[in-house]
Amino acid sequence: MDDHHDHSHLADTDLRVRALESLLAEKGLVDPAALDEIVDRYENKVGPRNGARVVAKAWTDPEFKKWLLEDATAAIGSLGYVGTQGADLVVLENTADVHNVTVCTLCSCYPWSVLGLPPAWYKSFPYRARLVKEPRPVLEEFGLTLASDVEVRVWDSTAELRYLVLPERPAGTDGMSEDELVDLVTRNSMIGTEKVASPAGDA
Ligand code: FE
Repeated sequence: MDDHHDHSHLADTDLRVRALESLLAEKGLVDPAALDEIVDRYENKVGPRNGARVVAKAWTDPEFKKWLLEDATAAIGSLGYVGTQGADLVVLENTADVHNVTVCTLCSCYPWSVLGLPPAWYKSFPYRARLVKEPRPVLEEFGLTLASDVEVRVWDSTAELRYLVLPERPAGTDGMSEDELVDLVTRNSMIGTEKVASPAGDA
C-alpha cells in the first residue's frame, strides 16, 4: 500500500488554490500581499504555537510527557489539537545522545495540527532529497552542529504518520513557568533543524 496515497489530491488542491488566488487577485477581490501575510502568520506564529504548548507541557509535566511519548495522538488530542482522521502523530524525544529530525521525502506531509503550515524549505526538493542522505551537512546549513558521538535519526513522514520532535529543554530554564517556556520553543526545533536556545542566549 502506498503510504502517500493522498499526494495527487494534495497536488490537485494546490493547483486549484493557486488558480483561485490568481482569479481573485485579477478581479481585485484579494490583495496577494495580504494573503502572504496570512500564510506567514500560520506558518510562523499561529501554527507552531500549538506544538510549543505541547513541548512546554511535556517539559513541566512528567506524566504528560510519558503519555506523549507512548501515544502522541491521544495526548496531543487532549489539548484540543486534532489532525485529520486516520493520521497518527508520533513524538520523538531529542536527548544529549540522540537527535531526531523530520522530513517528507515524497512531498510535504507535516504535523499541521501542531505546527501549522510547512515552511517553503520543508517542501523544497533539496531538503527532501538530501536530509536522508547527508543529515549532518544539511543541519549545518541550519546552523546546527552536532557532536560526532550524537546519533542522528531521520524520520520520513507520510499522510498517515507524522512526527513532532520534542526538543531538549535548554539550560537556564529551571524556574520558568509553562507559559514562559512556550515562548522559547521554535518551529524549527520541533522539526529538528535547530535546538531550543537558552533564554540567556548562551546555549
Ligand atoms: Fe508527504
